[in-house]
Amino acid sequence: MVKCKCGAVGIIRTSGTKRNPGRPFYACPLQGPRSGFISWVDEENHTYEVESQNLELEIHNEELQIQNRDLEIQNEELEIQNRNLKMLLIVSWILFFGIIVYKL
Ligand SMILES: [Zn+2]
Repeated sequence: MVKCKCGAVGIIRTSGTKRNPGRPFYACPLQGPRSGFISWVDEENHTYEVESQNLELEIHNEELQIQNRDLEIQNEELEIQNRNLKMLLIVSWILFFGIIVYKL
């Protein structure tokens, strides 16, 4: 959607000039067709598409960074759990052998 400087939403008109015959353009609905030119429809669509693609990629990139951070945090938590489990295993083996040795 293209807006004029005055804030009105541009309407599509077709150029009747010799340089751009039949070329659609956005025009201000509040001004005459000659003074209300905003932009060419084909050029506007092009920049709009590139811009929105860029924006989507940026958002995707940000989402991936957030996911990455979440995974790093999860990874750290798992490492801590892993360390705790190893400690528990060692302690239980020590206790187990301690009991056996004690009973013998
Ligand atoms: Zn206007």
